[in-house]
Amino acid sequence: MARYRDAVCRLCRREGAKLFLKGDRCFKPSCAIEKRGTNPPGQHGAARRKMLQGYGEQLREKQKVKRIYFILEKQFRTYFEKARQQKGVTGEILLAMLERRLDNVVYRSGFSTSRRQARQLVNHGHVTVNNRKVDIPSFQVKAGDLIEVKPTSQKNPHVEGAWATAVGRGRPQWLSAGGRDLAVTVTSLPRREDIDANINEQLIVELYSK
Ligand code: SF4
Repeated sequence: MARYRDAVCRLCRREGAKLFLKGDRCFKPSCAIEKRGTNPPGQHGAARRKMLQGYGEQLREKQKVKRIYFILEKQFRTYFEKARQQKGVTGEILLAMLERRLDNVVYRSGFSTSRRQARQLVNHGHVTVNNRKVDIPSFQVKAGDLIEVKPTSQKNPHVEGAWATAVGRGRPQWLSAGGRDLAVTVTSLPRREDIDANINEQLIVELYSK
């Protein structure tokens, strides 16, 4: 499967916001946004920053959300089409589907410090759902699912380190650790208020509805 291989901090600078793509470094002064500000990357980045409206604004919002969840255009478009076919507010359904991806849940639970790292954990078979190995990052969790790191993978230093600092990064209310190490239960499906407020999903709906 195709994937983005360039420096991820460029993506944050392009969107003019912290997208938290690089784990612990995103919370440190060495973060590229903290050091260099929100101008787009490149020698003439500052000159390229302008107020966007209409199509430009919609496009940037879609790119931002794609980059936050680290998925490519084709898959993002598929999520949108599935969301559009369901009853309810399309933008909110789209965000809920993205939040319910297993790699996102692994990240939100605190088993990893970034979604990229979470995807690797899932791909490499370190994660179970209801005691069965699931190695598909796009797997959609449902209420009541028990997500765990496999016992044989719990001593992985990246996982241990991420779990130790998980509380500081914040765990959403729809995921409960219940006092157990490296295990989280999906107590309910994510609602709009549980998802990053710095997203205007309506702009994405308008973009794809043209
Ligand atoms: Fe973005 Fe993290 Fe890089 Fe900062 S350190 S620019 S938040 S990926």
